[in-house]
Amino acid sequence: MPLRTFIESLCSSQCAGRAPGSAGGRAARALVAEAFREVGLEPTEQPVPGCGGANILAPLRGAQDRWVLVAAHYDHLGREGSHTYHGADDNAAAVAIMVEVARALRRDPPKGRGVLFAAFDGEEPPYFLSEGMGSEHFALHPTVPLNTIDLMVCMDLVGHAIGPEGAPEEVRQSVFALGAERSEGTAALVERLARVEPGVILRRFDAETVPPLSDYWGFWRRNVPFLFLTNGRWRYYHTPEDTPDKLDYAKIEATARWLERLVREACARPEPKVRFLSGVRDDASTLRSLMDLLANLESLSPMAALGRASAEQLLARCDASGRLADAERAQFLMLVGQLERGLA
Ligand SMILES: [Zn+2]
Repeated sequence: MPLRTFIESLCSSQCAGRAPGSAGGRAARALVAEAFREVGLEPTEQPVPGCGGANILAPLRGAQDRWVLVAAHYDHLGREGSHTYHGADDNAAAVAIMVEVARALRRDPPKGRGVLFAAFDGEEPPYFLSEGMGSEHFALHPTVPLNTIDLMVCMDLVGHAIGPEGAPEEVRQSVFALGAERSEGTAALVERLARVEPGVILRRFDAETVPPLSDYWGFWRRNVPFLFLTNGRWRYYHTPEDTPDKLDYAKIEATARWLERLVREACARPEPKVRFLSGVRDDASTLRSLMDLLANLESLSPMAALGRASAEQLLARCDASGRLADAERAQFLMLVGQLERGLA
């Protein structure tokens, strides 16, 4: 099924907002399982009693008994009164990207590690950060040992162009990559690939820049290397207006091609095990990403130049490991918040 058609199916009235345990949630699950079967994988369901739904897991075995986990939640907020929450950006687009990556990797399998594709249920409230959250359930009852996962890639809100219409492509085509600093070699890998795929630009942010936002949370807490890809919360976030017509399909396709490359490289990494790094925080990479984005926004807003100067000052105050003193964090987080609101 073409990518756009698949997203539209997940956002159809039949799926009714994909609430876990609802008829619409079951219809969505059937669509996702069918999509994995169509690309040649054999998906299985993992019931998630805490939300009344189920995860869909589709492994592609590799030469090594180690894994790269590619994940996106497929549930959404369901219906409320006469409103349906369609959840095109949150998170149908990510599920479609995951299926495209599965298609490409099934056709021409990566060297080294296997890839486990996971469509998680129960990510949205009221299950978020509870045992009814599909990813948390998986982490408690993993189908492959967690210490054999060398990278968990989590996608959420990856369907839209960033910033107002008319913003430069450097901004519109951005995808934020969080958490790369938390495992050895992953930041270097993301940076090397940041601009290799036309149509998409990866920008690193530290995982502590925002509160826990998605399925990577249960893996981070259990010291599994992770990478969170997101285009951030936009103006249609968690509203009935998050519909397929507002997505950027060229960017979605570019993101799928980019992720295919990343997963290939992550599978083929030569080290026997990727080391999780606890206690690191890379404020410097966040500030560099902020400065570059703000430089591109200066023609649109006089505030951008001020923000950029402030980011530059903070960058000069980072220590050798890229960390800001706690006393500077308030200004840092305010800057991130302002940019997020400005781009929404
Ligand atoms: Zn959501």
